[in-house]
Amino acid sequence: MQLIQGKTIAMTCSRCIQEHKTLAWYYGVGLYNNSLLCRDCFKFVFNNLTEKQKLEWSFYKQQKGDKKYA
Ligand SMILES: [Zn+2]
Repeated sequence: MQLIQGKTIAMTCSRCIQEHKTLAWYYGVGLYNNSLLCRDCFKFVFNNLTEKQKLEWSFYKQQKGDKKYA
């Protein structure tokens, strides 16, 4: 996940159409491929992915890994 800080340009989430200071670049399957999403919308879209699709994200893989070896 790449976080983008907006200072000079308007940072509008592609899903809720509201401005946020920080947006995440979402790429992958679904309607919001290659979109900027706020934290809440990113979570929403991410939670609708299949397990296999989620594992393509390194932060999710790490989370799973941590649980496995905890
Ligand atoms: Zn949003």
